[in-house]
Amino acid sequence: MARISSAPPTTRPEPAIAGSGAAWFSADYPAARTRFLAAAREQKAAVETLTIAARGPANEDLGIDVAWLGTFDARRILLHVSGVHGVEAYAGSATQLVLLNAPPAIPSDGALVFVHVLNPYGMAWLRRTNEANVDLNRNFLPHTATWAGAPPLYRQLDRLLNPPSPPTRDGFGLRLAMRGLRHGLPAVRQAIAHGQHRYPRGLFYGGAELQPGPRQFCDWLQRRLAGADSVFAIDMHTGLGTHGGSTLIVEPGTRAATTAELEAAVAQALVGSAAMPAAYSVRGSLGAALPRLLPGVDVKFLLQEIGTWSSLHVLNALRDENRWHHFGEGHLNHSAKRQIREALCPASPAWRCAAVAHGSDLVYRAADWLFWKKGT
Ligand SMILES: [Zn+2]
Repeated sequence: MARISSAPPTTRPEPAIAGSGAAWFSADYPAARTRFLAAAREQKAAVETLTIAARGPANEDLGIDVAWLGTFDARRILLHVSGVHGVEAYAGSATQLVLLNAPPAIPSDGALVFVHVLNPYGMAWLRRTNEANVDLNRNFLPHTATWAGAPPLYRQLDRLLNPPSPPTRDGFGLRLAMRGLRHGLPAVRQAIAHGQHRYPRGLFYGGAELQPGPRQFCDWLQRRLAGADSVFAIDMHTGLGTHGGSTLIVEPGTRAATTAELEAAVAQALVGSAAMPAAYSVRGSLGAALPRLLPGVDVKFLLQEIGTWSSLHVLNALRDENRWHHFGEGHLNHSAKRQIREALCPASPAWRCAAVAHGSDLVYRAADWLFWKKGT
């Protein structure tokens, strides 16, 4: 296995990101996949693929590719996941490419593991959801959970959020603002984004069962990670927060001591998702599932958000794309697809440079702390 060091690193690797961050971004899913696999091969990483039955727009295969650097018997594992939300994967994939080109040093009892695009259908088709319109960060529920229902306020908002027609200019922003005045903006935001299991064509649909990709991923996690002492997982997203900024979110219920420890490890303030302005708590997240799937393992989890545009702008893009997918032709050459891509992966080189800089910096800090116990 590659990059196994017996001594702590004295300097942090310097990937060639300065001024060229945008070069790490791929044009589409097949290109991103090809580059990821080539970089993994170059590092002599062990690669596994979890195959998805759905196909891409050019009828290409779709798969969740996992690159494992370090020993399979690792006691300490740093896990980096991209693309839980499909189209958000462009930044996560680019970050993983940066890191595969200049990985942090890994001790003999450690492993650095990249999960490339947990929702490949969404990346390939420029959707936030998977092939069954399921938001995978609302889908990681236990078998015993209730896979039904929707928040009462979501039910009231359904016709506004999910009109059964192709996208049109219909004053969505103004109509939503009026609902915000009536119910309070935080309540509206929470009701929309919490996750729902009642409207299969609606936004933030959590599904009726664990989806094939997450099911394979959960099996893989238990097969490969259950024997570790500790796992530090980073789940990279885009959308929330200030444009080009990084926000690190801990799961609700994370102990204050754990939060303080993680803050010292990454030298950045963390926010509980419920406490973050413009954020919300969700049901069925990956972060909540990891400790359940890996009992006996000390699991630390951070969700990293790279901010893009305003919440309303992003929601409007999600809504238009959802209407185009279900009630339009759904192909990629449409303004709704271009709009969602810009909403979750802005074209600006400065944004892209910032995204990979924040993404890779967090992994280097986490590696220093997990592998070498260096507070940064
Ligand atoms: Zn996301």
